[in-house]
Amino acid sequence: MHPPRRILLKLSGEMLGGVGASGIEAGRLRWLSDEIGAARQFGAQVAVVVGAGNFVRGAAMAGSGVGRVTADYMGMLGTVINALALADALASRGIPAKALSAIPMRPAAEAYTRAAAMAALDQGVTTVFGGGTGNPYFTTDTAASLRAVEVGADVLAKGTKVPGVYDKDPAVHPDATPYGTISYDEALSRRLGFMDATAVAMCRDNGLPVVVFAMDDQGALGRIARGETPGTLMA
Ligand code: UDP
Repeated sequence: MHPPRRILLKLSGEMLGGVGASGIEAGRLRWLSDEIGAARQFGAQVAVVVGAGNFVRGAAMAGSGVGRVTADYMGMLGTVINALALADALASRGIPAKALSAIPMRPAAEAYTRAAAMAALDQGVTTVFGGGTGNPYFTTDTAASLRAVEVGADVLAKGTKVPGVYDKDPAVHPDATPYGTISYDEALSRRLGFMDATAVAMCRDNGLPVVVFAMDDQGALGRIARGETPGTLMA
């Protein structure tokens, strides 16, 4: 892979959370900021889409009395909380950053427009996209693929707890083996679940390569910025 000019980094909410993946932990914000800062030093522009699994996942609220659409909006609001936190944490470490929300919520965050995102990225500002796609029944993986295509990212880097895509869940099966590379269609037909099908199809239909890597592998995001694939490449 050529060193990407622009990286779209997808972080699930639990990447910002502490033990038990609940809420936001200062140490996690520092770690993520440092990893993003290191990738920028290789010349890459970085845009981030954050999830909200550390607060709310809409589908998980089934049976609670909260309807699906309301629960999804709660999840989207959670992503805005995470985006505000990460953008400020980046800025506090000298990394220019701006949160943009798909759900307008002036005065807390600027509303997402592609023009605002492109202008910020071109100026070397790391954009943190909150609010997902702004629509219920989607996930932040789909938001990541959508925003990546919109801003012309060269790669979607999905930072996870494990160092790649496995043939079965490595948390449950000790004999799970990682893929070096996998095609979009194989990922879909095997229903591997590391990324939802809508997001995989969006990447496939737009020829967007995806690198799934361990976010806690120090320097891994920097290696992606240098054109390496420290994990599984889906292309
Ligand atoms: N969500 C949504 N539309 C979107 C993105 C997210 O409705 O475009 C809601 C959905 O309920 C989802 C929650 O926000 O479960 C948090 O996002 P996600 O589950 O993708 O977070 P992650 O698992 O990456 O932390």
